[in-house]
Amino acid sequence: MLCVMKEKSYSCNTCKERFGRRWNADRHNSTVHSDMAIIFNNKTGSISKHKETTQRYDNPRNIYQKSPSYKRFKEMKNNFSPFRKDDLEMEEELKIISIFGKLKQPFEDLEKLLSDNPENIKIKLLSDMVIYSLTSSNPVKSLQEEIELCQSLSSRQKIIECVSKGNSLTPGQTYAYLNGLIKNGRYYKRK
Ligand SMILES: [Zn+2]
Repeated sequence: MLCVMKEKSYSCNTCKERFGRRWNADRHNSTVHSDMAIIFNNKTGSISKHKETTQRYDNPRNIYQKSPSYKRFKEMKNNFSPFRKDDLEMEEELKIISIFGKLKQPFEDLEKLLSDNPENIKIKLLSDMVIYSLTSSNPVKSLQEEIELCQSLSSRQKIIECVSKGNSLTPGQTYAYLNGLIKNGRYYKRK
């Protein structure tokens, strides 16, 4: 017979698999057992420990990288780290969106209150109010204060118009007259 099977003289101590060539056995040790197994030469009985293997074991970092805790760490890093990052970004995104949601009511109220103004002035006022509110510690409260101010100004305008017509006064005279009444009243002093 020309075809001669090479005798499998190397064996793995861990799974008892046999190999004809040393490099095959070493590769098996490396891929299957992470170099933890010992390869025997059955003929000579000598323990075949790969030179590289020994060197790798001498390096503490490589020993650490074979430890279960490192494997768990790697697993966690691969599986959960990107997820956690997404999760955190999503959490931030939701927080920001919810703040926009809280601004909805005051923003729409202001939009209505400013609707008497020309469109470009209304837009500019609204835009400034929103930006200013977002720099404050409480944007919702800040916009609500703007609403109160707008309502007060609108109310003052209507009252001055009414009183000036009812008493044949100019708006300027009415304004001074009403201011005086308010300042001298008990209600103002109490506030
Ligand atoms: Zn094996």
